[in-house]
Parts: sequence; C-alpha cells; structure tokens
Amino acid sequence: MTVSAGIVVVGASAAGLATVEGLRRGGYEGSLTLVGGESHLPYDRPPLSKQLLSGAWQPEKLRLRTPETYTELQVDHLLGAEAVALDTGGRSVRLADGRQLAYTQLVVATGASARTLPGTEGVAGVHTLRTVEDALALRAELVARPHLVIVGGGFVGGGFVGAEAAAVARGLGCEVTLVTDQDAPLSDAVGVEVGGLLTAVHREHGVRVVTGSLVREVITENGRTAGVRLDDGRILPAGAVLIGIGARPNTGWLTGSGLSLTNGVDCNAFLHAGHGVWAAGDVASWPDVDSGERLRIEHRTNASEQGLTVARNILAGPAATAFRTVPYVWSDQYDLKIQIYGRTHGADAMHVVEGSLHERKFTALYLSRGHVTAALGVGMIRPLRALRPLVAARAPWEQARQDLPLAG
Ligand SMILES: Cc1cc2nc3c(=O)[nH]c(=O)nc-3n(C[C@H](O)[C@H](O)[C@H](O)COP(=O)(O)OP(=O)(O)OC[C@H]3O[C@@H](n4cnc5c(N)ncnc54)[C@H](O)[C@@H]3O)c2cc1C
Repeated sequence: MTVSAGIVVVGASAAGLATVEGLRRGGYEGSLTLVGGESHLPYDRPPLSKQLLSGAWQPEKLRLRTPETYTELQVDHLLGAEAVALDTGGRSVRLADGRQLAYTQLVVATGASARTLPGTEGVAGVHTLRTVEDALALRAELVARPHLVIVGGGFVGGGFVGAEAAAVARGLGCEVTLVTDQDAPLSDAVGVEVGGLLTAVHREHGVRVVTGSLVREVITENGRTAGVRLDDGRILPAGAVLIGIGARPNTGWLTGSGLSLTNGVDCNAFLHAGHGVWAAGDVASWPDVDSGERLRIEHRTNASEQGLTVARNILAGPAATAFRTVPYVWSDQYDLKIQIYGRTHGADAMHVVEGSLHERKFTALYLSRGHVTAALGVGMIRPLRALRPLVAARAPWEQARQDLPLAG
C-alpha cells in the first residue's frame, strides 16, 4: 500500500526532530511523517555515555520532547519502522513491513551506527554504545564491576565515547584498560599536549592505557568474553569489552537509489542530495563553504543545526542558503568539562590563551597555516565562548594574538 505523506523525514532523532520542528515553525502546513527505526520517541544520545551509564539519570530523562509535542506538531510518527529502500524516480520510501511512503521532499536523518569488531557480534559481554539499549546493557554489566577493556579510547569520529565510558566505569569501581592503536592517545584530534593531559588524567584515575596496540580478537569462554588478544600476542583479561572505534553513517538502505554515498549522503552546500532528497546530522556530508573541505560531523549541535537548515531550505525554494557552522562539541570526563569550537583536526599549532594545562583549566586556540581553526577549553565555559568569533572568522593568528591575554 502506498501512503501519500507530504514531506517524509527518515530518522527520528536530533536531526529529524529539528527538521520537523523547523518545517512547522517555518509555516509548512502539509502532511509530515517522521519515520524512526527505534521504538522510542527521539531521545538525546550524549547522556548515554555519561548520566545514563553512571546511573544518575533514568532513560525517561533523555527524551527530547514530550509525546504531546508530536501531536501539537501534527506529525505522523512511525516508530519501530525501518526504511529499507528508496526509489528517487518514483519518490517513495519502502519500509521493512512493506509499506510505501510517497513523498514530495525526503529528508535523510538516519545518523550513524557504532562500528564493531568483526567476529564479536553476539558474544556476551561485548558491547557498543550508540542506543539507550546499548547503554543500559553496558550499565547492567558495569554494576557487577568486571574488568572492562575499552577498544579504541580516542576521540574517534565525533565521539569521546570510549574515554567517557572509561571515566564512568572507574566511578563505578571497575578495573578499566583502554587500548588504542595511537602512540599518544587522544592526540589525533586535540594534539599531543591536550591528548597527553587527558591521558594523564585517566591514568591518575586508575585507567590502564595501552598505546600503539591493535586488538586482534576477543577471546571467549563458554560464549562469553574472557579477554582480548593484542596484535603483539599479549592477552588482556576482560569480563566486559566496549568497542569504541567510531561510527559508520547509516546509508545501507539508500544503496541503489542513485544518491552519491561516498562517506554518508553526499549533499551540496545547501544539504540537498538531489531528486528532492536532503540530509542532516551524522549521516550528511557536505562541502563546507568556509573551509573548502567536505565535512561530515558527528556532533549533537550539528544535527540540530542541519535539521533546521534543511527545513528552512525546503521552504525557501530558490532562495535556499548554504549551511554554515562553527562546529561545537563537548565532553565530560571525571570533573573535566571539555568544549571545542571549530575543528582541531589537522591543526599545525596550538597556543594556550588563558589558564594553563598544568591547572587543568585553560583555553587554547588551534591554528592551521596561520589561521585560527578551533578553540578548545577545559573548565572555562565563558572565556571559551569569547574565542568563538575568532574561529568563525578563521582569523589570522597575527591579528588574533594582539587582542588575547596570552598565557605564553
Ligand atoms: C554515546 C554517545 C555520546 C555522545 N556524546 C556527545 C557529546 O558529548 N557531544 C556531542 O556533541 N555529541 C555527542 N554524541 C554525538 C551525537 O549524539 C550525535 O551527533 C547525534 O545523535 C546525531 O544525531 P542524528 O539525528 O544525526 O543521528 P542519530 O542520533 O544517530 O539518529 C539517527 C536515527 O535514525 C534511525 N535510523 C537509522 N537508519 C534508519 C532507517 N533505515 N529507517 C528508519 N530509521 C533509521 C536510528 O535508529 C536513529 O534513531 C554522542 C553520541 C553517542 C552515541
């Protein structure tokens, strides 16, 4: 059966919700359908590796909106409904149960899934951390205080998931070993100085950090994890294993649709992927007009910003505008609050602006070829915000430094 559904948004999470709200706020009065593969109303993922994992919050607190909001928005939400195919020519989406949804415009907001280690699927005690079920299952194990091995403890993709889970697991009294293939953990994105600082903090809290090592396999006993084998043959005992090696954009269902799917859904600067299809959030890749780079960002704020942009551009027609952003991400580890504006990745210099790494309270600017590309702060929310305009402007360092209270 084909149902005519006006604008269809596939993916009922931060990006999908922002799109739906943006459309209604922008005056769209036609029919609107939100299709979600999970059985939950949209919920927030950042607390999964923080407040939910630690037990400080119950799952209800993660809900992004109350059930009544969806009625007010007059959105048809199909939950537990997986989109399995897209026919761009016929403008329809097929769901796993056989239903077809015809659309006028389609928004792909299907996010990303945690990457796994091949061969570990279904092994008891091996976890990933992407959904509320994942977090609850991991928490249920951690309260029994197993020795937890975290595979890939870095800032992989957009996430700090492994490092955050390490902090929570220590708080719950687990022994924790973090295995990373990098020589200087956490430094790929934030540089050796800040990476070194964060690694030192983890070590001080009792996390054993194994660097420069790949996990070859998970060793099982009676179908349950007993340890991991590293590429140098070493075996680390593990009562539980968390695979934190990043995420893959959920584009499998779009195969054969004619959309370009290089690293996520390839869009233009307006987040339009062609054929009346748009993309937002972790799944979207777009050419950033400011940096000239093609980006795909796995940050919570980006998902909402892109959802709103897609809504605006759908309604704007020919007056659509390019998506522009200063990326923002945060992470909580122990009592440290880390925040980043912009992109630290690929920076060739870092200057502390205020405070010091020694105090573990500072702001710093990251530069690439003499221009400010990011500002990172630890425990300095307001001073960091003051640096945001420099990032937005990609300010030349020589000009920026004149106004800064340099710490040396
Ligand atoms: C544990 C964890 C901690 C995080 N912490 C932070 C943080 O501290 N700060 C930060 O900035 N970001 C953080 N993030 C990243 C942030 O949560 C994501 O960037 C954000 O959730 C992306 O939103 P999204 O709507 O694009 O995709 P998602 O949240 O991935 O949602 C996509 C939705 O689409 C559904 N879907 C997928 N395929 C289909 C299909 N075929 N049919 C129907 N539905 C489908 C999925 O089930 C899912 O519900 C964290 C992420 C995780 C997992």
